[in-house]
Amino acid sequence: RKKIKEAKMPKEVEAKALKELDRLEKMPSFSPEVSYIRTYLDWLVELPWSVATNSKIDIKKASKILDEDHYGLEKVKERILEYLAVQKQVGKIKGPILCFIGPPGTGKTSIGQSIARAMDRKFFRISLGGIRAEAEIRGHRRTYVGALPGRIIQGIHTVKVSNPVFMLDEIDKIGYDFRGDPSAALLEALDPQQNNSFSDHYLEVPFDLSNVLFITTANVLDTIPPALRDRLEIIEFPGYTDHEKLHIGKKFLIPKLLREHGVEKIVNFTDEAVKEIVSKYTREAGVRDLERQFAKV
Ligand code: ADP
Repeated sequence: RKKIKEAKMPKEVEAKALKELDRLEKMPSFSPEVSYIRTYLDWLVELPWSVATNSKIDIKKASKILDEDHYGLEKVKERILEYLAVQKQVGKIKGPILCFIGPPGTGKTSIGQSIARAMDRKFFRISLGGIRAEAEIRGHRRTYVGALPGRIIQGIHTVKVSNPVFMLDEIDKIGYDFRGDPSAALLEALDPQQNNSFSDHYLEVPFDLSNVLFITTANVLDTIPPALRDRLEIIEFPGYTDHEKLHIGKKFLIPKLLREHGVEKIVNFTDEAVKEIVSKYTREAGVRDLERQFAKV
């Protein structure tokens, strides 16, 4: 009872929790339902109903952080700063959902992390690749044995705040089959018009996702379900030229790798060597393989 009070839930959620608690009290302790109700109540009291990181947006600082972490990507950074500026003006953005599209290794995930850093928010990432059942997003009904909330509520439960930057990777790789369409559930979670009362089958009570900053990523556009694609603002990560890779290698990847391998003072890459590795040892749009080649050296 104390925990329920302390969780500062919305009124109707608290009422529901107390009702379940009453049921639990009246139940003989050997009833199999006891553990189900306990688990359910644990989920309810542990969700961050009114816990949020104190997030302030400072455009100058955000711009500095984005530049610190990434070379180039001017258009992408500019659009992100505009987005943050609007968010700062209105508090909550009811606009489109950002979707980063581009080949692997072009910095989509790491830009997401920088955005979280720039906004002083927590970062959380899940991959949607291979998800087929609606229950993965929205959870199983409690009547199921071993039922759990869906991935989104699980994510919120893990970060313990209601306003993280939440990255959904590979939305071009969700499918659907006879177990329902996950993209419909996803749309409900992402859509700013309706996500202030996201319903998870397991929770049975609505959760307010409107403070979460959702960012989606994909490799290609054409396999994203059309209803979902309509709501996305596409930001393209076009891939890097050899010249850009040279810079990224020298300024970002190599210093990081030298630090990680503890050989900062011992190993030194010449420009010629970096150029040679970029042009002769890798063949990709991003810089993942390049990073591996440097690591190998
Ligand atoms: P993606 O999510 O697009 O597949 P990642 O964000 O995982 O790619 O990027 C792979 C690696 O390349 C990371 O270590 C990232 O920091 C680095 N990287 C990518 N683009 C840049 C860039 N423009 N400047 C600096 N590092 C970059």
